[in-house]
Amino acid sequence: MNANIPNSDKKRVVIVGGGFGGLKLAQDISKEYFQVVLIDRNNYHQFQPLFYQVATAGLEPSSIAFPFRKIFHNKKHFHFRLAEVNNVKVEAKIIETTIGEIQFDYLIIATGADTNFFGNEQIQKFAMPMKSISEALSIRNTLFQRLEDAVNANTEEEKEKCMNIVIVGGGPTGVEVAGTLAEMRSYILPKDYPEMDFKKMKIVLLEGSPRVLNAMSDESCVKAKEYLLKLGVEVHNNTNVVGYDGEYVTLKNESKIPTKTLIWSAGVKGNSISGFEESVYLPGGRFAVDEFNQILGTKNIFALGDVACMQSEKYPKGHPQMAQPAIQQGKNLAKNLKRIAENSDLIPFEYKDLGSMATVGRNKAVVELPNYKFQGFFAWAVWMVVHLKSILGIRNRFLVFLNWVWNYLTYNLSLRLIITHKKK
Ligand SMILES: Cc1cc2nc3c(=O)[nH]c(=O)nc-3n(C[C@H](O)[C@H](O)[C@H](O)COP(=O)(O)OP(=O)(O)OC[C@H]3O[C@@H](n4cnc5c(N)ncnc54)[C@H](O)[C@@H]3O)c2cc1C
Repeated sequence: MNANIPNSDKKRVVIVGGGFGGLKLAQDISKEYFQVVLIDRNNYHQFQPLFYQVATAGLEPSSIAFPFRKIFHNKKHFHFRLAEVNNVKVEAKIIETTIGEIQFDYLIIATGADTNFFGNEQIQKFAMPMKSISEALSIRNTLFQRLEDAVNANTEEEKEKCMNIVIVGGGPTGVEVAGTLAEMRSYILPKDYPEMDFKKMKIVLLEGSPRVLNAMSDESCVKAKEYLLKLGVEVHNNTNVVGYDGEYVTLKNESKIPTKTLIWSAGVKGNSISGFEESVYLPGGRFAVDEFNQILGTKNIFALGDVACMQSEKYPKGHPQMAQPAIQQGKNLAKNLKRIAENSDLIPFEYKDLGSMATVGRNKAVVELPNYKFQGFFAWAVWMVVHLKSILGIRNRFLVFLNWVWNYLTYNLSLRLIITHKKK
């Protein structure tokens, strides 16, 4: 196999990963100076903040994904390749990919992060992560398959295991999934499954730290927990999961929760790529980078977003693994690559914190802007506007908006489909 990238008199920038950071860089980079090659293992950009709505049958996967080739229609000196990058030959300036070797002048690693099971193989085998559209879809399939299984269960014990859902990790993803499932249990499932008693269905959120939404202020954490409890979610703080065998979740205090559905949103680790000196790999799978996003000790190789760790006095553990740092780093690096071509001084990266937010359910959200915190209906409306604005493509925005309005008015979207491979 050969990547067949045409030769060019321009310097070649290879970007690995078309997530928030890599895509922003690819869009902003000067085509006057560079040939740009974007490589991704998917042929589409995915909007991760709304994965949970795909997982809970609120949105179709296609409304939060956008094909790279469409984004770059009619863009000269741009080439997309669908491939997985496995290794970098640093000195030779070559990356090894599933479609062969590709030479670069500048390499940018923007591969994001994957689920971290913290080395627990048993949990990894049975729990469901949510770091890609296909994983979100797999959660949707499992949730509804389990309910079908519950209808047919012969014992109360089996029914309980099929109906209960446990979510591990009380960050924004865990909170959003738990809240949405609780609303579904109240308004939708009793209509779909009239022969079942949904008062028996437990939705349990487990979090190791004393608070949910631990990265936010006390006020937001308290409010989010209050919302969850109001919706009937069982929230257990200071609770660590030590095992899961597909039927029972085992907690550190040795108690067990019966469930065949465990959603894992308890941690991430960077998708680092091999080939570099040991010293640049930091804990959590992140690359140590300087203030220009250059990987320490390398020339012309950069990392940005979730996979990069730029340590500073203000951010001793690097920037938060969120969309904004990745986008802002992509923007800054695009400017710096142009400055490199023009022999100008580089601009160090400075993170502008635009705030954070999470939604728990309809009319229930918490928002923290740099100088202002608020909750409730207004926060929920702001959350929706911010997310709608960030989705790529007018059609996708329209579809998401339409789904939200329909769902708000009717409490009843009809996306509760189990779509799996044909059984042989
Ligand atoms: C469920 C969920 C909800 C989230 N909600 C929010 C939120 O509300 N707000 C917020 O700010 N952040 C949120 N985040 C975090 C945010 O999505 C990430 O911080 C952000 O996507 C990081 O951007 P990135 O460019 O570093 O990587 P990503 O956006 O993860 O992109 C990485 C890209 O690299 C590709 N890739 C990876 N490895 C390889 C390889 N070896 N070869 C080829 N391609 C590869 C992947 O296919 C992907 O396209 C959420 C994340 C998840 C999972």
